Amino acid sequence: MIHPALAFATPPRQPAILIVDDAPDSLGMLQETMRQQGYQTFVATTGKRTLDIAARVQPDLILLDVILPDLDGLEICRRLKGQADTAHIPIIFISACGETDDIVAGFDIGAADYIPKPVRMAEVCVRVRAQLRLRSSSENQKQHAERLQMIVEGMDEGLMLVGLDGRIVYANPACARQLAAAGGDLSGTPLAELLAAPDAHDYAAYFAHRDDPERAARCRGTREVLLVQRDGSLRAMDLNLTPMVGGEPLFVVLLHDITHHKQSESALQLAALADPLTRIANRRHFDATLDKEWQRAIRSGQPLSLIVLDVDHFKGYNDSLGHAAGDLCLQAIADALQEHALRPTDLAARYGGEEFVVLLADTAHDGAALLGEAIRAHVERLGMTNPRATTSNVVTVSVGVATIVPTLFDELRGFFIAADRAMYEAKSGGRNRVAAVRVGAAWEAMRDALAL
Ligand code: GH3
Ligand code: MG
Ligand code: MG
Repeated sequence: MIHPALAFATPPRQPAILIVDDAPDSLGMLQETMRQQGYQTFVATTGKRTLDIAARVQPDLILLDVILPDLDGLEICRRLKGQADTAHIPIIFISACGETDDIVAGFDIGAADYIPKPVRMAEVCVRVRAQLRLRSSSENQKQHAERLQMIVEGMDEGLMLVGLDGRIVYANPACARQLAAAGGDLSGTPLAELLAAPDAHDYAAYFAHRDDPERAARCRGTREVLLVQRDGSLRAMDLNLTPMVGGEPLFVVLLHDITHHKQSESALQLAALADPLTRIANRRHFDATLDKEWQRAIRSGQPLSLIVLDVDHFKGYNDSLGHAAGDLCLQAIADALQEHALRPTDLAARYGGEEFVVLLADTAHDGAALLGEAIRAHVERLGMTNPRATTSNVVTVSVGVATIVPTLFDELRGFFIAADRAMYEAKSGGRNRVAAVRVGAAWEAMRDALAL
């Protein structure tokens, strides 16, 4: 539902004028003239009535005689200006006391205008119209400002005004929510203090050197930042920094929460790297990691080992126990593998079908061969009966292990093929066993061939 203050303005009503005069002739003439001008009129002949009607009717303008039987006009004006609900009503004095002091006194206590008696009706009309026009434009401005304030305070995006020194001048309630801060005035806080590194440093540097085009390019417009919440946790935000239009020495900062977007993005990224059946890494993840570790091993000169394993007689397992049981068996093997890939740089993956791989960075031949054997034994110990296997009555795996200290002369593909060949060697050697090879560095082979 649209808030009343945001609805379009209601059609303008007839302006209401309160005319105050204790002289019946003068009162009658003024009332008649105002009516002819299309105004709604109210009249009073005493000060007390004037205060009553003004509070009740809230007229748009008061034409006020200065000399009245009970209260004088100046006192009435003072009282109306002292009351919140009547202070905004413009008052035009109409009086026979036309001396400069009287006029000054009238303006001093807040009168909008002063018309000396005897009045010329045409002049009264013009002055009344001018006051009503002024009042309506200031009312419009006020309404406009109220609407803007409501929008800014009700919006989900954080909005701040930031001074040229980088300190916050104003922050809407959404900013406090985004910082998970209960209330708390942010005025005076440097914008950079709300951000995590390196954003904090960039924004602080920008406000310290606003003329530097490189820093401006980095900080103006929209940028993804991390907001530091009051409990120290971080929140991903799009921060937009724009100079205030109209040359005011301020910046407008908008903060848009992108946590959900980021979470689903990283969930998607993770899903793209995992095998849906076993939940360990998929081939794509493995290939990317192998490539990265291969390059790293070339730089570090450390050995790289790869285990390739294939389930023995798995077709028979599927055929006798069903595909669903086969799936569970693959999951159990994946879990077992995962238990052996303990270091942060180890990676166990399902390479495809019933074939798995384990990549071991910084691992020499002997260690990798031992790990291959531990995996083989682990799968055998799971004791999953395979009715069709000819080499064992439980599910087993054949394991190939290859190790290399790669150089720029070596080929990654050759390394993988060596591990795969070792696995087939284990198969042909009777299955449920490990075959491990050292892949000689290409430069060693070259050196031997050239008999250096
Ligand atoms: P070997 O000892 O020579 O490796 O014999 P094998 O029967 O394991 O080899 P083969 O390549 O003939 O059979 C592999 C089987 O793995 C065939 C296929 O149905 C099964 N398989 C591959 N992927 C999946 C899967 O995701 N789920 C299930 N249940 N079975 C799978
Ligand atoms: Mg197989
Ligand atoms: Mg196979």
